Parts: sequence; C-alpha cells; structure tokens
Amino acid sequence: MLSIRNLSKTYPNGVQALKSVTLDIPKGMFGLLGPNGAGKSSLMRTLATLQEADSGEAKLDEIDVLRDKDAVRRVLGYLPQDFGVYPKVSAEDLLDHFAALKGYVHRKERAEVVASLLQQVNLWPVRKQKLGGFSGGMRQRFGIAQALLGSPRLVIVDEPTAGLDPEERNRFLNLLAEIGENVVVILSTHIVEDVTDLCPRMAIINKGQVLLAGEPLEAIRSVEGRIWKKVVDKHELPDVQQRLTVLSTRLVGGRPVVHVLADAQPEAGFEPISAGLEDVYFGQLLRHRAAVAA
Ligand code: ADP
Repeated sequence: MLSIRNLSKTYPNGVQALKSVTLDIPKGMFGLLGPNGAGKSSLMRTLATLQEADSGEAKLDEIDVLRDKDAVRRVLGYLPQDFGVYPKVSAEDLLDHFAALKGYVHRKERAEVVASLLQQVNLWPVRKQKLGGFSGGMRQRFGIAQALLGSPRLVIVDEPTAGLDPEERNRFLNLLAEIGENVVVILSTHIVEDVTDLCPRMAIINKGQVLLAGEPLEAIRSVEGRIWKKVVDKHELPDVQQRLTVLSTRLVGGRPVVHVLADAQPEAGFEPISAGLEDVYFGQLLRHRAAVAA
C-alpha cells in the first residue's frame, strides 16, 4: 500500500502544483486521471524521488518515500512522460546497459533477465534493431521493460499512451495489466478509457487537488440515471450549453452529440443513457471549476 498524506508542492514560479494531496493506493493498477496541468507529473516525479515536496508524507509499506530515497529507488520502476532512448543502440544492448546499472553484475544472469523482459514486452524478435527505428508503441514497451528491471514493488507510468495509435495502445495496456498483483502500479493519464479499461481503483485530480478517489464502477453508479443524451444542431449548441449542464460534446457523423447531467429529463428530445466514467470525469471537472469560480 502506498499512503500519501497532505502532499503539497509550489514551484518557484508560484504555481501550486499539489495542494494537500491525500491518497491511499493499494496493490494493483491505479489510474490517476486528470487534464493537462492537473499535477499528475508533479506527483509522479515526487513519488519517484526526482523532486522534493514542500510538505506532507508518503509511505510505501514501511518505506518513507520522501526521506529514504535510496530504499525507494531499489523497489521503483519508472516510465517517465518523456522517456528518451539512444537511437543508435539496439533494444537488447540498451536494456542490458540499464540492467547493469540496476545492479545485475553477472553477465549470464543479466542476459537471462534481459531476454525474459524482452519476451514479456514482445520485443524479442526485434531485439537487434536500433531503437531509433522503433514506433512509439515499441518504444513505450521498451520503457516498460526497463521499468520492470529488478522486480519493482512500485511501478509508475506517466502518460504512457499519449501518442500511441489504438492498436499500440491496446497492446501497451494489456502489457501493463499483466504486471504482478503484488505491485503498486500507478498509471497517470488524461485518457479516460485507459482507466475504465483496466484500473480497479482510481483518482481524479485537477489543479493539484484530488476531486474523487475510489472505484470507477462505484463512481459511475453515483451518476447513473442522471446522464442524458441528445443529437443537436451545431447552431443550437451554444444555447444548450447556456441552459443545461453539458458534460461533453462529441461529433458523431458530423453532428454534435451532447451529454447532459440532470436529475430528470432536461428537455424534450433528451434520452437517458447509461453513464460512463467520462461522464463522471467531466462532471467532477465542471463542479470543481464552478467551485473555484464561486
Ligand atoms: P500534468 O502532469 O497533470 O500535466 P504537471 O504536474 O506537469 O501536470 O503540472 C502541474 C502544474 O505545475 C502546471 O501548471 C505546470 O505548468 C506547473 N509546472 C510543472 N512543472 C513545473 C516546473 N518545473 N516549474 C514550474 N511550474 C511547473
């Protein structure tokens, strides 16, 4: 269990990126969902011991994450948002290099670990190829292989699916889902489906604050029966947005489809639909914006 208590961080430019963040993150996959600028990376970098918090606490079981950085690093696997690779090195050679850094000093054992990870992330057939020729999805899978070196207890992946095509994204998420059950895996993302598809627990954050934490299914249940849908004309849209609590607008076949939050049918033409995590997410963001503006 990773317990985060009242974690705060203000950057020197005055931006308060984390405002007393408190979260309990059990073993398994945990989705940290929030728009760009919400503070996800700031939280991930703090937990990964790459930057200091101003105040608060974080404990991974018995390890004091903010103070005992060496202990954290021994059990941490981290895939940063901007994971760079050396383009002229092969996947196998670079992973071997990372393995040596991680403390695998015996060549034979290291080779076995590297081979096993390359197989796990499905890069074994291309292990001799240079990383510069890899697709975004292949690079991210390589990133996971390096994050899994040394059997970590805490795995942090920061916005790993941004920029992947749907097939690559699927592959990557399936791979994440296979990481052991005894590992805390934090998946930070602004893509709602990443969380819906594979996280039994999650939190929504915005402007450095936790808006909601819990189980996606429970969160969805909490808005069930209050989500309404209508296909509208483009010119009607501004009016609809003025009158009703519009959660989202999406073009379907070139026409706007709006989702509205309301206790009862808001207007003629709206039909009830079963809620999704996206409705929860946009509802939380709207409420937070309104609270901040008030
Ligand atoms: P996210 O990962 O959710 O997009 P970040 O943690 O990157 O959010 O950013 C949170 C806020 O902190 C943003 O307003 C961002 O501009 C600001 N920020 C992030 N890193 C720095 C930094 N090193 N110096 C100053 N401001 C920063």
